Amino acid sequence: MVASTNITGSYLDQGSFNYDDLTSVRFGDVEGLHVFLFENGRQHQVFYEQLADRNILITKYPLYDADPSNLDDWLFVHNDEHQRIASELNLPNPFNLLDSDWNVEDDFYNWMSIHVTMHQQIEEALTA
Ligand SMILES: [Zn+2]
Repeated sequence: MVASTNITGSYLDQGSFNYDDLTSVRFGDVEGLHVFLFENGRQHQVFYEQLADRNILITKYPLYDADPSNLDDWLFVHNDEHQRIASELNLPNPFNLLDSDWNVEDDFYNWMSIHVTMHQQIEEALTA
């Protein structure tokens, strides 16, 4: 389990990133998925604003909105944001988040653990 961290910065002062909410969702748990989607959407909004402060504008998708019964579109645009953020920040991004199948339990947990690592790398890059 990954602990929450407090980070400083103009936008990040408003709250800490809750990494527990990015990792605690269980396979097939729709309620937990909503918690995940909310926290993930919030963090992506902070990333977007931090990049905009550096005059880097990426396409912003409405990541809060997702239909748990049909996540293909969400998975696609979310992955797209991650690829763009990683390339703008020169982060190593060897993993394509679309290569995991959320209908397969092991893939799902694998995705979650790689994804939270990506968020932590972005946070580090933005606060460096
Ligand atoms: Zn994300």
